[in-house]
Amino acid sequence: MFTSCTEKERFIFKKIAHGGENLQTSCYVIGGFVRDKLIGRNTSDADIVCVGDGIKLAHEVAAQFSPQPRVAFFKNYGTAHMRVDGLDIEFVGARKESYRYHSRNPEVAPGTLHDDQNRRDFTINTMAISLNKDDYGQLIDPFGGIADISEKRIRTPLDPAQTFSDDPLRMMRAIRFASQLQFNIDEQTWQGIKDNVERIQIISQERITDELNKILMSEKPSVGLDLLYQCGLLHRIFPQMVDLAGAEYKEGWGHKDNFYHTLLVVDNIAAHTADLWLRWAAVLHDIGKPATKKFEDGHGWTFHGHEVVGARMVPKIFSRLRLPQDSKMQFVKKMVELHLRPISLTKENITDSAIRRLLFDAGDDIDALMTLCKADITSKNKKKVRLYLDNFEMVQQRLHDVEEKDRIRNWQPPITGEMIMDIFGISPCRKVGDIKNAIKDAILDGVIENNYDSAYDYMLIKAKELNLEPVK
Ligand code: ATP
Ligand code: MG
Repeated sequence: MFTSCTEKERFIFKKIAHGGENLQTSCYVIGGFVRDKLIGRNTSDADIVCVGDGIKLAHEVAAQFSPQPRVAFFKNYGTAHMRVDGLDIEFVGARKESYRYHSRNPEVAPGTLHDDQNRRDFTINTMAISLNKDDYGQLIDPFGGIADISEKRIRTPLDPAQTFSDDPLRMMRAIRFASQLQFNIDEQTWQGIKDNVERIQIISQERITDELNKILMSEKPSVGLDLLYQCGLLHRIFPQMVDLAGAEYKEGWGHKDNFYHTLLVVDNIAAHTADLWLRWAAVLHDIGKPATKKFEDGHGWTFHGHEVVGARMVPKIFSRLRLPQDSKMQFVKKMVELHLRPISLTKENITDSAIRRLLFDAGDDIDALMTLCKADITSKNKKKVRLYLDNFEMVQQRLHDVEEKDRIRNWQPPITGEMIMDIFGISPCRKVGDIKNAIKDAILDGVIENNYDSAYDYMLIKAKELNLEPVK
């Protein structure tokens, strides 16, 4: 079994085995590490379970190394952690668990290896490898985890309904594993999820969002997002996304199902970026569509202004999902707001001024925006896709040329709000913003030159229109 481990990992496991032998405590590698090794995925953490005191074992193991790794331990949980050679190792004593209805935190009592395997969520996560002298390296797989790996199957070892009711976070984990590993959820396990979706309410938003982020970081996030939708979890954790679903027909006009369109966009972008926040922008790019949907006679369905409405929804959605409220949220908001702009630049006779405006508004995020726009092309017609991509190539070339010439990306207008307040002796008010914007627009439109003197003269003209005289 250890054949798929690195030299370094095998060395570390030998040391752990020594520690266990010294204490006469049996110990095992268990859970995610074993699963990932069998699948052939990279792992950087290993869980060690022992029939005894995990913290004591950790200290004994640390003493086997020189220099000795630092042991961090948590008495309340009976767990200890150390890091050796880039491998995070977690120690815990084998335990039995029993759950109460209103909490996902179980009553815990010491138990056997088998008890410990029983409490684990999916068969593929229950497997253990012995680190004991008698059967060193032996795989202990009481629930058919190996078979489930080869069948690519997510299945609970015990009754699914009980498993998910005990700890509803497991529903999110099942779907996250299905998405990460591209495995299928076994039929009874799936039924267990569908029957327990309302139990998700006892789980903290932070934990739910952690799983959601892991789904988004998987190779094909649509797998997980669609499963969340199909079982009804998405309705509870992210109803705005469910509102995108469905296509309506009226007087022969239809519109696309924006939920499935969004899933395609997310998969497209996942192939081009590992940036979680750009992936979130793909999830949210059309989120304003349900609120702006209208049927116009003779025109069909429209979603005018959905990018502005959608951008306004971003802070609230981020706050509800306990995602950060900082620059990452601002980035996503900006992407949503600007996601149609490059399309408007694919028309003919686009002026430099329009290009400069987009460079100014997108700044350093212009490349991310172009990645989003390309991912937004989901037509099944290959010719159309080619045409749209070619158009974007042209836009990108123009953006590049104008940026070379005018350096707009990180540009700030030569006259700031503070300067305006100072020159006219006024405090912050709307007029300051109006003058500042007028100067910016004039420069971007090429009406005046991009320098301080031209901006100053222009400022005087605009101020006069607003009945302002300089005090200096
Ligand atoms: P990853 O590290 O990729 O998130 P993992 O399966 O290793 O996946 P961890 O959260 O590191 O997940 O948990 C380690 C092991 O603990 C799991 O493999 C599983 O055996 C067990 N486990 C984790 N969370 C639960 C849970 N909610 N219910 C039951 N067992 C769990
Ligand atoms: Mg893990």
